[in-house]
Amino acid sequence: MILAANFKMNHTRASTRAYLQKLESIDKGDVALYLFPPFTALDNYDTAVATIGAQNAYCAQSGSYTGEIGLEQLEEFGIKTLILGHSERRHLFGESQELITKKFAFFKEQGFTIFYCVGETQEVRESGSTELIYSYIEQQLEGIDVAYEKLIVAYEPVWAIGTGKTATTEDIATMLEFLRTKTKRPLLYGGSVKPQNIAQILQVPECEGALIGTASWNVDTFMTMINIAK
Ligand code: 13P
Repeated sequence: MILAANFKMNHTRASTRAYLQKLESIDKGDVALYLFPPFTALDNYDTAVATIGAQNAYCAQSGSYTGEIGLEQLEEFGIKTLILGHSERRHLFGESQELITKKFAFFKEQGFTIFYCVGETQEVRESGSTELIYSYIEQQLEGIDVAYEKLIVAYEPVWAIGTGKTATTEDIATMLEFLRTKTKRPLLYGGSVKPQNIAQILQVPECEGALIGTASWNVDTFMTMINIAK
């Protein structure tokens, strides 16, 4: 079981440290924890409770890429885990599948654990059949090595992210079954996961964990979910 906290553009260096200190007190059982703080809060944290990852990075060692960080910056903190393909990167910041594919290839080559996100928009959801949704997701897997041994795939329907709308367990089951035909790697769900719904979500066949935004930002709430998951 995997639980990952995506802080997005929340928390500071100081509050991330305090969060981790509190998290240390938990008995997480067999749950593997991952924490994705913002760039400015990345550090060489002396912690065994969670693996620290980056929410994004550019596919180069270093160079003239204003506003980006690359391998050199991640290596300084021993970061070997990365989210790629998040819908906020795709839709708010215009990351193309081509760019995401390049990032994937680069960080795969570096042996990174990659949390790779896919998910359909509300428009696609409403306009079409299941087949349309499947083909939309297939496009998001184009150029990605789905057999990569350090790949974790997160199904995050865009309409369920930060909206309070959770996909039904039937929806999640259908989509994870579909993704299972594409990859043997662990499959997660993300989108308005919270203490009230996490137990049901984690019971969905093929669901091996959750990528959590909003409800992970408060450490007590995250710990509540870890206790439910373990
Ligand atoms: P929320 O949990 O806020 O819906 O965010 C999900 C997400 O985008 C995790 O990457």
